[in-house]
Amino acid sequence: MNNHVTVLEIDGKALDHNLNYFKQKLESKTKILAVVKAFGYGSDGVKVAKYIENKVDYFAVAYTQEGIALREAEIKKPILVLHPQIPNLQPIVDYRLEPNLYNFKIFNAFLKLADKAPLMNYPIHIKFNTGLNRLGFWHNDIPKILTSLQETNHVKVVSIFSHLAASEDLEEKEFTINQINNFAYIAQQFYKHLDYQPMLHILNTSGVVNYAQAQFDMVRIGIGLFGFGNTKEETLQLKNTHNLKSIISQIHLIQPGETVGYNRSFVAKRPSKSATIPIGHADGISRRLGNKKGFVIINNQKAPIIGNVCMDMIMVDVTKIDCKEGDEVIIFNTQEMIQHNSNISETIVYETLTAISQRVKKTLKS
Ligand SMILES: *Cc1c(COP(=O)(O)O)cnc(C)c1O
Repeated sequence: MNNHVTVLEIDGKALDHNLNYFKQKLESKTKILAVVKAFGYGSDGVKVAKYIENKVDYFAVAYTQEGIALREAEIKKPILVLHPQIPNLQPIVDYRLEPNLYNFKIFNAFLKLADKAPLMNYPIHIKFNTGLNRLGFWHNDIPKILTSLQETNHVKVVSIFSHLAASEDLEEKEFTINQINNFAYIAQQFYKHLDYQPMLHILNTSGVVNYAQAQFDMVRIGIGLFGFGNTKEETLQLKNTHNLKSIISQIHLIQPGETVGYNRSFVAKRPSKSATIPIGHADGISRRLGNKKGFVIINNQKAPIIGNVCMDMIMVDVTKIDCKEGDEVIIFNTQEMIQHNSNISETIVYETLTAISQRVKKTLKS
């Protein structure tokens, strides 16, 4: 039971809105895979997946454990595990998860397991590296992969996929188009030599925004589901899903010359009032937001963070705000605030969202 007062409220209506926004951008036959890795981008992967299960075709997670959590919550839709390791292959089968096989080591290990079990047409996904140089086979691995596949009916390739390196950056358009073309060529080789046609997918959120022509059979939406497109205009069309709230634990009246927080980095120049809030860097509030770089909202007014961000707390300046202990504090509840915090912390919104720790209670409001 988590009765911590610092809560991330996930906005179910916003999830619906964002899903519909992408559906309307895509052809009706294009399948939607919702990426709910990293606890649903710092929210709650299980709650989000349960809420949208009937509105999407597929789920993906990064690691096996994340997929097991979804199955234990009785998610029935297919779940692609993007980054499995060899010791995970048996649990993957036990929980009916679908592995991404990205090199011969894991591909052969899975085929061996499938033969031994034996499994029948077990769904697998094969990933190709088309330029990101992160995970995936090279196109010249195709003949060897095909030979192995033609010799077995213990696995079946549900999809062939790749990942774009710079889908958000139109200055890299030529590189991206080249990745898409290479992917289409790879897919052709499979279509020529297999007697069935695996699904194809290469687009993430910003890929859908910039290269919708390459939607193939499915798209993989992560950050877009949580309210961020890759441009300001696109983000304006989406709704924020992550509302982070807390309360004022204590208020202090500070005399001129007194200081607030570790290293005494805030020094009061005039009679001041500070509020202490139970959220800190261990909850995902970057230390870079300290010393008036970041702010929270209390009774509709901005309260700058003063002094250093502590592990479990922040102190904010409420000298000019009418407030009392127990009042609600909004850490962020708009895309603008999340983007602002990310800019100040010299990072991207992905990191700001996924930094929200497990200690923060999560609720989903539909
Ligand atoms: C995380 C991830 C996605 C989702 O990307 P977004 O930019 O959040 O939409 C898609 N595909 C792969 C392979 C990923 O790792």
